[in-house]
Amino acid sequence: MSKDSKEKAAGPLPFPRGTFSAGVALQLLALFCLWISGRIPFSPDEYSICSKSGSIYTVDETNPQVECISIRGSRISYTESFQELQERTRRKNSASRLQNWLMSRFFGSSIRISYIASDAIVVPGLADAHAHIMNNGFKMQLDLDSCKSLAEVIDSVKAYIQSHPDIHNNSSRWIQGGGWDQTKWLEKRFPTAADFDADPLLEGRPIALQRVDGHASWVSNRVLQIIGKLPADVEGGSIIRDSSGAPTGVFLDNAMSLIPAPEWTDEQMAVFFDTTMKVALSYGLTSIHDAGSSPMMIQFMKSYAETGKIPMRLYVMGHVSSDEYWGSQIPRLVNYGKHRRLTIRSVKLVVDGALGSWGAALLEPYSDKSDTSGIMRSTPKAISDLVNQFWKDGWQVNIHCIGDRANHVVLDIFEDLIKVGNANITEWRPRIEHAQIMTAEDLERTGRLGIIASVQPTHATSDMWYAETRLGPNRIEGAYAYRTLLNGSQKHILPLGSDFPVEGVNPLLGFYAAVSRLSVDGTSPHGGGGWYSSEALTRAQVLKGMTLDAAYASFTEHEIGSLTPGKKADFVVLDRNIMRVPMEEILGTRVVVTVVDGKVAYGALP
Ligand SMILES: [Zn+2]
Repeated sequence: MSKDSKEKAAGPLPFPRGTFSAGVALQLLALFCLWISGRIPFSPDEYSICSKSGSIYTVDETNPQVECISIRGSRISYTESFQELQERTRRKNSASRLQNWLMSRFFGSSIRISYIASDAIVVPGLADAHAHIMNNGFKMQLDLDSCKSLAEVIDSVKAYIQSHPDIHNNSSRWIQGGGWDQTKWLEKRFPTAADFDADPLLEGRPIALQRVDGHASWVSNRVLQIIGKLPADVEGGSIIRDSSGAPTGVFLDNAMSLIPAPEWTDEQMAVFFDTTMKVALSYGLTSIHDAGSSPMMIQFMKSYAETGKIPMRLYVMGHVSSDEYWGSQIPRLVNYGKHRRLTIRSVKLVVDGALGSWGAALLEPYSDKSDTSGIMRSTPKAISDLVNQFWKDGWQVNIHCIGDRANHVVLDIFEDLIKVGNANITEWRPRIEHAQIMTAEDLERTGRLGIIASVQPTHATSDMWYAETRLGPNRIEGAYAYRTLLNGSQKHILPLGSDFPVEGVNPLLGFYAAVSRLSVDGTSPHGGGGWYSSEALTRAQVLKGMTLDAAYASFTEHEIGSLTPGKKADFVVLDRNIMRVPMEEILGTRVVVTVVDGKVAYGALP
């Protein structure tokens, strides 16, 4: 205010001095009223983006496609046709001389309009409703994703050591990475500690490499020595052993906590965090639901938020691996930090393992391993006690459930709280993360109870090559059943995520997988038409799942998730129309610009 008054006093006056005070007061009042009522747009930081083909997809059902979007400050001020924008500009130009003078004095002289290319589109900022920010950065230091054999993994580890002299020269330094997947290897077997020791450069070093799903860890003999005496078995986990009973070097689920890897330092966390943010923004993500951060990671993110170093919206679920109530170990933060981008009001529980390592808890034994039905990491009673306490304390509860048994147990707990405990589903919004394998009754029950299923379409296309072998022809019907879950949902929502680093960070991988049910090379066990294609989603459903539905799952549907006047100006310009191009062209799409809070966070405005 004081700056404006000073400018006003210093500027020339376009009318006789005697009439100034009353006249200007009235004009100002009129202008203020016009401004408040939104009839005249003016703001120094206002700009508009237009698409001549009307390819601005708003995900706002009252106005799904528009030609222009205007941004004022950190918010969307208008979505409209080009003609409407022109009329507003004209109204502005036809305002009285005094109004124009005041407008340029106080609010800047014109609206900046830029046009996107004819093939390009604008969509709301994309959300990843389930991902692991720190683990992604951690994995990127030694990423084994693309390895097609065990030998390739060993070569990658060697190359990593050779390119890090500090590690090369110090054989006691831990080597950590992740992304290996034995189902993709020539060998098709679980690796062993002995595989490391066969190489002189690796022999004797502490090495721990996580499986792609994060549910198994493969360690070297040096790590086994450091651990020392192992327990006979681990509740909710397992230690793989050879025929003589000796550990082979692979630990599953809860047994992974036996591995004494050094804690991450703040410097390491900064690298992991920044690496992931940079990559995510380059793919058009403006919001990430972090599916489980420890109190230590949360402390780090909190201080990062305070200094304004978080470049997008983060919805972080607190996580501690314990059956003892741990709600007091994490701070409750809503729109926290310098840019108000960090929110922590939810927790993540994990009740079973993953399908790839036979860890998903099933109601019946695995079809390809009849001696196991997977792993429940906690007893139903312990899970129920935790869920009840978190609900009482006002935390949204998001639970990892892959197998049909895990889903069933958790739905029982949620149903009990809703029906007996009178939990208000709209206020609480509990989520099942993955909701991967369910009985037909539980698919129906999820929707009926209003439980949010948070799913990752690339899991379907990654697992489709072995899922039916693991589950058999009947159970597979209720697996990765995205269309069924969406159709059954009370609010018709299905938030979508990637689970990166388990899958790639690029949300278009999920977009493509959900609409095509094909792997990136266009194949599937059912051919080019897609794997169980009746469970595919439409492009509009997928876009909504990656925007507005994810916003709902994080209590922010009134702030983000669609291009609606008044909401935060988070949006992305893509260089091709993913809503229309042939399926196989979706993955060639590039991000032109990612905008968060009205400001460019990646790329450049057209
Ligand atoms: Zn996850």
